[in-house]
Amino acid sequence: MISKLPNAQTSIFAVMTKLANECGAINLAQGFPDFDVAPELIDRIHHYMQQGHNQYAPMPGVPGLRAAITKKIDRTYGVSIHPDEVTITAGATQALFASITAIVHAGDEVIFFDPAYDCYLPTIELCGGVPVNINLDKNDFSIPWDEVAQKITKKTKLIIINTPHNPSGAILSSTDLDQLAQLTRGKEIYVISDEVYEHIIFDGQTHASALKHDELKKKSVVIYSFGKTFHATGWKMGYTVAPDFLTTEIQKVHQFLVFSVSTATQWALADYLEDESHYHYLPQFFQKKRDLLLDGMASSRFKPVKCQGTYFQTFSYADISDKPDREMAEWITRNYGVASIPLSPFYTDHSDNKQIRLCFAKSEDTIKKAAQKLCQI
Ligand code: PMP
Ligand code: GLN
Repeated sequence: MISKLPNAQTSIFAVMTKLANECGAINLAQGFPDFDVAPELIDRIHHYMQQGHNQYAPMPGVPGLRAAITKKIDRTYGVSIHPDEVTITAGATQALFASITAIVHAGDEVIFFDPAYDCYLPTIELCGGVPVNINLDKNDFSIPWDEVAQKITKKTKLIIINTPHNPSGAILSSTDLDQLAQLTRGKEIYVISDEVYEHIIFDGQTHASALKHDELKKKSVVIYSFGKTFHATGWKMGYTVAPDFLTTEIQKVHQFLVFSVSTATQWALADYLEDESHYHYLPQFFQKKRDLLLDGMASSRFKPVKCQGTYFQTFSYADISDKPDREMAEWITRNYGVASIPLSPFYTDHSDNKQIRLCFAKSEDTIKKAAQKLCQI
């Protein structure tokens, strides 16, 4: 058999975006902003391109950007990182691929939580890893730590967490991180903490980064994405932060996967990161959009799940229909002109809890129009 991923299908993000375009529907499916990147940042990239920064960047990333990231981490989390612990990647997706590949050997067990972001499972499979999926709590999407304790074996090599969590919008607390630290203590188990929505967190809560946890920090790869922070998902720029011994292994994979990523963009991001006002506004900015969507949907028959971060709001449609969730999402797109993402593709066992995800990284006008349409169902 040639296929290494016999079960992989076209990503639900691509499927629903295509359908939205065909139907002329409002696309609240794939997670991307419908507003643009700050012109100042685009000007910086132009500037560096014109200055001749158009050839390969150093393999781990432009030194100025790696240094700017360490300063930002210090300002944000009060944690001191060395620039050598940072690797600039082609988005969080490549960071995840390089990190999972660096850590997982054939036969190693990898624990992750469903619903899970779509690239974790296929990457584990490509490494010959054994996926050990655990369902998050159906109601509040919390991690069932007792079950994690039961599923840890001598073969467990890696645990992948994601906070704030796509698709549910749930967040982990420092107590969750303590549980993880306790369960992995004294064992050769590493952690990947996908924190791409670190700045999109609501209601005055603070982000519980694995970097802030002294014990976890020593065994974790923490992954970030400039796509989320600067509304530039199409640039595919991200980075990993990991202790030296893990970074060495990640960079061995990274150098053969892409070697390095856009030089001028790295220089521009290095400048732009220095000013906190470029990302400090994000919680209020996105909370307003979340609340606008919730207000708009208040008179609908959809029931919201509590969203504490990310730019996604999940709703249950169990009171409206018992259609399978993919069918429901397609039906709404075709008949009511709003595209969403069904949650079952995020589950290894395709569990269907009659839930769909709406992306609210959109203009106020778009959010209001979409909510009005959904209220007619
Ligand atoms: N992890 C999560 C949880 C995400 O939501 C995304 C993007 N939606 C990624 C990783 C990938 O990020 P990037 O676009 O930077 O590759
Ligand atoms: N991460 C985005 C989402 O969750 C989509 C990324 C993609 O299209 N691959 O919607």
